[in-house]
Amino acid sequence: CYRVNGSASDHEIANGKIKDKEEGCEGHVKQAKRSKHKGWVTKRPDLKAISEMLNKNEVLYHERYFGDLPGIEVGHRFYSRAEMVAVGLHKLLLKRIDYIGKPYVKSEYNGYTFPLAAAIVMSGQYEDDFGNREEIVYTGEGEKDIPGKKRQFSDQVMRCGNLALKNNKKQSVPVRVIRGHKCDDSYSKKVYSKKVYIYDGLYKVTGYWDEKGVSGFKVFKYRLKRLRGQDNLTSQNQVHFVRGKVSRVQQELPGLVCKDLSNGQEDKCIPVFNFYNPSLAPTGFKYINSIKVAKNVSIPPDAPGCNCRGKCTNPRSCSCAQLNGGDFPYVSRDGGRLFEAKDVVFECGPNCGCGPECVNRTSQQGLKYQLEVYRTKEKGWAVRSLDFIPSGAPVCEYVGILRKNDELEDISENDYIFEIDCWHTMKGIGGRERRLGDVSLPMSNLVDEVDERTLESEPEPEFCIDASSFGNVARFINHSCDPNLFVQCILSSHHDVRLARIVLFAADDIPRMQELTYDYNYAIDSVIGPDGKTKQLPCFCGTSECRKRLY
Ligand code: SAM
Repeated sequence: CYRVNGSASDHEIANGKIKDKEEGCEGHVKQAKRSKHKGWVTKRPDLKAISEMLNKNEVLYHERYFGDLPGIEVGHRFYSRAEMVAVGLHKLLLKRIDYIGKPYVKSEYNGYTFPLAAAIVMSGQYEDDFGNREEIVYTGEGEKDIPGKKRQFSDQVMRCGNLALKNNKKQSVPVRVIRGHKCDDSYSKKVYSKKVYIYDGLYKVTGYWDEKGVSGFKVFKYRLKRLRGQDNLTSQNQVHFVRGKVSRVQQELPGLVCKDLSNGQEDKCIPVFNFYNPSLAPTGFKYINSIKVAKNVSIPPDAPGCNCRGKCTNPRSCSCAQLNGGDFPYVSRDGGRLFEAKDVVFECGPNCGCGPECVNRTSQQGLKYQLEVYRTKEKGWAVRSLDFIPSGAPVCEYVGILRKNDELEDISENDYIFEIDCWHTMKGIGGRERRLGDVSLPMSNLVDEVDERTLESEPEPEFCIDASSFGNVARFINHSCDPNLFVQCILSSHHDVRLARIVLFAADDIPRMQELTYDYNYAIDSVIGPDGKTKQLPCFCGTSECRKRLY
């Protein structure tokens, strides 16, 4: 066990930010004493880590900085406050206003009057807070019963963070705003602090006043306005509001042509934006959220399953883990992230004893990120995420009608065909390494053993997913020669690789609002038109790796 000496007060004192405990505001001093006398210990990995990092001076930005921090974009997600301390976004583990300077006394430096606030957290702890997308009314800090009833117990005083925010207003110094909301992904398991935090950008303090708060005591209020020119929040679902409320006033947003492309079929709605032609929405297809099978395609019987119960946890006793080379392909963080791209992932299926929450069913759990479809200048529709997507997370399955390839009239005229070609994926096209070491997999009725020879004489794909008339959000994802998604073949109900599910995963940490793309992997000059001539399609992916043509 580690002593948690990285609490706000201890850390502040240790780093000489607040030299004398008596200079600190009461909250800081009380916290410091409590932690020393009770000898806090923790099992939480984030707190252990931050404790070590603080002791070894290994956190980023020791000194506090104002404004944006390099590498931390609007929408960046933190799974505990310790992570924000580690990167210097908000350097206090418990307090909500992170400020620089002495708490009571005005001091001057470089022409500025201190204390000055660098960052604030807004996470529903204060009953008087109010926030919407562009404007926040933020309650000052202190004299509050946290983590008790979260009520004010006496009048707030103009000192510490309160004084700092007042100075921010006077000197027009912007403050970083971080919004917290309840989320099971949090490192904390305590009900009141089980939160995830999202960086919401820079705000300026435009006013302050005091008033009688909800509990009848004086509270300071600060009006904050989001600075212009930051990443546009085109949908509000990204921003989580106090007391767990999520605003859904999307109808007021400019360019919105459809509130939910999925018509309620997905767990998250998928808005569509068109800033070029606000009366044009995607048409000509019907949204479906799972594969439809053409009449002449027969799906093999369900594969035998594992005998685990609840969630698969022991790879030695789980037969599905054995199919994946002896371990689970996913880490459970963030609701399941693929360790690495694999030739084929064997997930748990209908005959397995585990339940829907099992980590080895990660790709079966629906959309996890807030996606939106938008119109581009040169590529038609495209898809992006309003949420940060961590590397290895499943983004969506490619859904449509499962058909036989030889029945399609003219593939070259259909933009929405995805050939199920796991051999192609296995050979590492798309920048992925082929790992023959892993391929001692029972690859269904197609092959018993995969080796160099069989890969060289790869069979032609027999089946495809046709999303031209029925499909999901994946049909709008464009090609890039330097993509941020990769294609993963997945077998869950049966083990026939010719009919594998196609799921798109994040190849990197994907910042919010970045277009989602994968490599379509056409060979140049491989597409022949109905007239027998080679077809060409210029690529507008715009990356430095661009091959100039899709095919
Ligand atoms: N943009 C499509 C739409 O509007 O429905 C969604 C993708 S659809 C599966 C594939 C088609 O999108 C391609 O045939 C091509 O017309 C276009 N496309 C995708 N990526 C492209 C790129 N990098 N450059 C140019 N066109 C692209």
